[in-house]
Amino acid sequence: MRGQPALCEVLTPTGLNEALSLRAAHPGARPLAGGTDLMVPFAAGRLPDRLFLNLWGLEELRGIHVTEAAATLGALTLFREIAAHPLLQREFPNLVRSAKVTGALAIQSRGSLGGNIANGSPAADSPPSLLAYGAELELTSLRGSRWVPYAGFHTGYKQSLLAPDELITRIRLVRPGDGGFHYFRKVGTRQAQAIAKVSLAAWVRVADGRIRELRLALGSVAPMPIRAQGTEGVLMGRPLTELPLEAALQALQADISPIDDLRSSAKFRRRVAGNLLADMLRGLASA
Ligand SMILES: Cc1cc2nc3c(=O)[nH]c(=O)nc-3n(C[C@H](O)[C@H](O)[C@H](O)COP(=O)(O)OP(=O)(O)OC[C@H]3O[C@@H](n4cnc5c(N)ncnc54)[C@H](O)[C@@H]3O)c2cc1C
Repeated sequence: MRGQPALCEVLTPTGLNEALSLRAAHPGARPLAGGTDLMVPFAAGRLPDRLFLNLWGLEELRGIHVTEAAATLGALTLFREIAAHPLLQREFPNLVRSAKVTGALAIQSRGSLGGNIANGSPAADSPPSLLAYGAELELTSLRGSRWVPYAGFHTGYKQSLLAPDELITRIRLVRPGDGGFHYFRKVGTRQAQAIAKVSLAAWVRVADGRIRELRLALGSVAPMPIRAQGTEGVLMGRPLTELPLEAALQALQADISPIDDLRSSAKFRRRVAGNLLADMLRGLASA
């Protein structure tokens, strides 16, 4: 049966405090941001929720604020806004690339970064970039706000640290400064409008010809977006002239745990993840 709007109630707060009060009073009310994830199961009659907390009008969740130290994005920041932001283009190109390959213009004009994170899909496009940039999330309830590292936010398939009375309110990215190497690549069925079979994002800082800092993250190869920390350990400190490709590829296979599903097979995902790592390392060595 199709979703039935007449059976649903939508709570529409006019400010963040009211939203948090409603969230505390109705922990079963499903936050509704752009609705681009929620409306798909709703239209198919597969969404059990009947009560929604509409976040769309909350100005407190909008805007991209830049200081000397960080760029902070409201949870309702849209992919179109990320793609068009000059500082993000310059300093966080992986996030901009992820935003540009998220659906098409309609989705980019309605889908929010907070929704992409909270939805918890292992195949979502922005999480690997956020992990590669060491993003932090602000989780807010009537009890107050806490900042948590995004790495560690997802605790399992569609599970997270978000408490029932909390909302994701902001995403903070510490500015990496100049000179880093940035890599993002998504492999799907086609070039555009495809869900990732595998995606890989990396941010690397090199000094004196050696890898001094490295964050490597993947999507669609585990129950949640992951950092490939074993692989990072193999590469850290290594000179660009002698990158241990075979050892890194081996470590990557231990870091990931892909499955067979309707979009791809575990075997294909393992192969492609390795190819992307090799491509990233080739780019790094020749940068
Ligand atoms: C045709 C189509 C193509 C798509 N293509 C892609 C793609 O290529 N890549 C990709 O990554 N995604 C894709 N998506 C999925 C979707 O567009 C994104 O995940 C988007 O970021 C969701 O944001 P939203 O604001 O629409 O979230 P919503 O649908 O409103 O919410 C999604 C989930 O997050 C929760 N939520 C939202 N905001 C908050 C908050 N601030 N605090 C706590 N919980 C919150 C909701 O309760 C819900 O569980 C696609 C969807 C469609 C329909």
